[in-house]
Amino acid sequence: MAGVQIFKKNSELRDWRLKAVGSVGFVPTMGALHAGHAALIERSVAENDLTVVSVFVNPMQFGPAEDLGRYPRPWEKDEALCRLKGAATLYWPEPSDIYPPFFSSQVEVLGVGDHWCGRSRPGHFIGVSTVVLKLLMRVKPNRLYLGQKDAQQAAIITKMVADLDLGTEVVVCPTVRELDGLALSSRNQYLTAKEREIAPGLHRALRLCAKGVQTGLIKDSKAIGQLFQEHLSSSSPWRLDYFGVADPVTMQPVELIDKPVRLMAAAFLGTTRLIDNEAANPRI
Ligand code: AMP
Repeated sequence: MAGVQIFKKNSELRDWRLKAVGSVGFVPTMGALHAGHAALIERSVAENDLTVVSVFVNPMQFGPAEDLGRYPRPWEKDEALCRLKGAATLYWPEPSDIYPPFFSSQVEVLGVGDHWCGRSRPGHFIGVSTVVLKLLMRVKPNRLYLGQKDAQQAAIITKMVADLDLGTEVVVCPTVRELDGLALSSRNQYLTAKEREIAPGLHRALRLCAKGVQTGLIKDSKAIGQLFQEHLSSSSPWRLDYFGVADPVTMQPVELIDKPVRLMAAAFLGTTRLIDNEAANPRI
């Protein structure tokens, strides 16, 4: 098995990129890699000559009261997974390599980030778009691999890539789940054993609502919202952050469900915030 080359500096990555031959796929991550990340890496390795994985816990996308300090950083495990999956390069920069002193630019994709996580986490998507644009300028990939698990993030990056003519194909990959339906997330390890038992309730409630939409019986977003609350509170102690019905491309709220939509949800179990989403296609 060919080894993975590890770069910590932009200059090293730049030299590698200048010499790289063939197509390049890119998987940006914050590390603590799990089977969801692994699926993105596998897909990139299958579709490209070379795959770059980045691991960067991006301070710019965390709010002051969020978990930047305690975000898991199991470096050796992450490196082993990249090696196992056949990534060519692991880019693991220090914050100072991405944000030199007096860094003063930011990228905001207007509209797509207005609701859902954009509303709950002010500034979060500016941090995401800024770092992803910088990484794309550095890696110059032919294809960029993102997870549907973060549907709004994927919609924002897709729009940024189109608006700014970045010339990268964006590939959005399905959400990888535990057997009980819980979406894999680096933050799942914060859950207590009791919370872990309850956690699949978020996806269960989303699926039940998606079924309600699919039957064509419920077309009103407010009614779907009530149904969601009923399903979720049947498995308390959830604290709902948001539930909503979104246009899958623009991420704007939809009131009358007469076309395919995405059901979006975020909720807390204790101090852990979980997000998930589900497609819902109404029978017309
Ligand atoms: P993160 O490390 O959480 O920033 O995620 C890095 C990339 O992996 C993003 O494109 C995520 O959407 C994607 N990802 C995270 N969890 C999953 C999952 N369970 N299934 C598929 N993709 C995922």
